[in-house]
Amino acid sequence: MDIDEIIERIEKVIEPHRIPFREPWKVLISTVLSQRAKDETTGMVSENLFRRYPDLKSIAEAKLDDLEDILRPIGFYREKARRIREIARILLKNYGGNVPDSKELLMNLPGVGTKTANIVLSVCFDQDYIAVDTHVHRITNRLGLVKTKTPEQTEKELMNIVDRKHWKKLNSLLVEFGKNICTPLRPKCVICPLNDICPSASLSLKK
Ligand code: SF4
Repeated sequence: MDIDEIIERIEKVIEPHRIPFREPWKVLISTVLSQRAKDETTGMVSENLFRRYPDLKSIAEAKLDDLEDILRPIGFYREKARRIREIARILLKNYGGNVPDSKELLMNLPGVGTKTANIVLSVCFDQDYIAVDTHVHRITNRLGLVKTKTPEQTEKELMNIVDRKHWKKLNSLLVEFGKNICTPLRPKCVICPLNDICPSASLSLKK
């Protein structure tokens, strides 16, 4: 299966997902907040957070219970409140208020794993990384591009088979594709532009 063709077909029907922030610290914190949360909730909570705390210093000095109140609509809000305050403090203390542009340094921050680091590096620093979340993992397995059990394995496999020129956009494209067409439950294979080449297309389409 030709990955260029797959991407081309998806691009014809899907507008890539856009993170509504440009400043690296906002992208970093909103991505940490997005872990195990719905995009809509993350967007709303991030907007509220950045309205009340418009810079790293104010987050670093925030009271934990106030942060928890703002983050309450998303899952694991207590843990996330502690993490983002700690991230703000570390960025101010160690990096002059900037977000580091290295994967190793990013992954030393609390709550930052490979997916979050890859999103920050590709969105904010234009670096070639594939951010593999549940959508990317599920869809690439359904398409038979990879046969993997974890997002980490998927990232490694995709780096071997996807041309580097596509790495940065793969996440934003497949997130929207996964929300609208190749959904976790009952994928909409009938309207999918890949239903003639996808090995997981509904059986009814293959008769
Ligand atoms: S045909 Fe169905 S399973 Fe395959 S990519 Fe499209 S929506 Fe997903």
